[in-house]
Amino acid sequence: MRYFLAIIGGGPAGYTAAEKASKAGKEVVLFEQNALGGTCLNVGCIPTKSLLYGAKQYYNATHAQKYGVTAENVAFDYAAMQKRKTIVVRKLVAGIKQRLQNEHCTLVSGAATVLSYQPTAISIQCNGETYEAENLMICTGSTNFVPPIPGIKDNPHVWDSTDALAATELPGKIIIVGGGVIGMEFATLYHELGVEVTVIEAMPTILPNLDQEVVSILKEKYQKAGVKILTSTKVERLEGNEVMVSQSNPNNLNTPSTLSADKILVSVGRRANMQGLEALTDLEMHRGGIVVDEFMKTNLPNVYACGDVTGKIMLAHVASRQAEVCVGRMLRQIPLQRIAYNAVPSVVYTNPEIASVGLTEEQVRAFYTEMEGPAGLEKAGGVETFYEVRKLPMTFSGRFMAENDGETGLCKMLVDSKNKTVLGVHMIGNPCSEFVAAASFAVRMGYTVSEMEQVIFPHPTVSEILHEVL
Ligand code: NAD
Repeated sequence: MRYFLAIIGGGPAGYTAAEKASKAGKEVVLFEQNALGGTCLNVGCIPTKSLLYGAKQYYNATHAQKYGVTAENVAFDYAAMQKRKTIVVRKLVAGIKQRLQNEHCTLVSGAATVLSYQPTAISIQCNGETYEAENLMICTGSTNFVPPIPGIKDNPHVWDSTDALAATELPGKIIIVGGGVIGMEFATLYHELGVEVTVIEAMPTILPNLDQEVVSILKEKYQKAGVKILTSTKVERLEGNEVMVSQSNPNNLNTPSTLSADKILVSVGRRANMQGLEALTDLEMHRGGIVVDEFMKTNLPNVYACGDVTGKIMLAHVASRQAEVCVGRMLRQIPLQRIAYNAVPSVVYTNPEIASVGLTEEQVRAFYTEMEGPAGLEKAGGVETFYEVRKLPMTFSGRFMAENDGETGLCKMLVDSKNKTVLGVHMIGNPCSEFVAAASFAVRMGYTVSEMEQVIFPHPTVSEILHEVL
């Protein structure tokens, strides 16, 4: 049988594309070598959020005195938390399978390999069978990157995020190498469950891609709570459960050069999965990711790529949106849609959560500096004249005050000085992940402050901060 579309990889990009194209009446075959749902559902977003929720319940129960509640003998059962996580994942995976079957999409369980490529005649092999398709979508995702640090390979003390999610027992002490999103979410999980946590970050700051004013609030809180955070710290080598580091920050020279822990979690980024695609010899790549245009087309006619494998922004919601845009283009649906990369929200599930969309203050400054040049900046009186920062602690929200004792939080909005459009919104405070979508709307639609003022936010909700801050 000849398919209209063959999709390799059943993560958020692959299953979204499969459902959309099948719904439009096209013959679709989807290959997945592990479970449907990909990293996000099986070993990423969903399992971490399930465990983090369990940890938060425990943490809240043991810190409830400030709300007038005392609970004695509060305990947790990590194996039970893991069991619940597995049930959540299993149900969601089954749901995806059902949805695809409802649309009569052909699901093939196995590792697919591209056998040969001709525009509009692509052969794929899986489990010894050959499948022919007119179009190919590569949605093979990414895997944890293992940096070339001596002593890291085959070290039984070293975990990646998948190992950490699978473990049914907690370490007493953990070193987390990489203070990015994965690193800080696991730091949260382990810290809330009483594990001694040290985070080692090579850059001068944790979460280096986020607004640093927001990040500094998290860092201060975590350090006060006992999480050790070593920035500007390089891991030189590992010997068993020992980590040898060097320091480039003069303020941290007291850091011991050897640290040890029961486990060492390495979370220093992810790399695109390219196995099975060797036959696509002319596929254009950049920095390990497949190069795509605004409709996710690669340089090879009829070959598309979506999600982490493009190395663009490794987020599940970006992958699924890319898939929607890509299938829309493939089906020639008018009007053609594009992805608003300038309005991609992101959340870090620390406690408190961080949620943001649009440009950070660091990016706004770099943008206007480049646009205006040295002469323009001097004439205007500095880069600060091109943008305004509107910010408030979250405590301006009554609901936040009622539910977040001892927290201040922050909502920071960056606005263009001239036309008053919203350039970016950065927040820390629970539950900002649940209303950052309102800020995404503003950035996506290019709303001005006065347009935002016309939006009514329900009272009392923490989301009102987006109105208060204007
Ligand atoms: P990341 O890029 O977010 O962070 C990696 C960190 O490791 C960086 O801060 C980097 O400076 C640091 N680093 C790199 N090499 C190092 C070294 N040798 N020693 C010490 N530090 C080092 O990557 P990640 O945290 O592994 O996450 C991978 C991807 O998954 C990211 O794109 C992330 O956005 C995504 N993700 C998203 C979520 C979410 O949306 N909540 C959750 C988890 C992962």
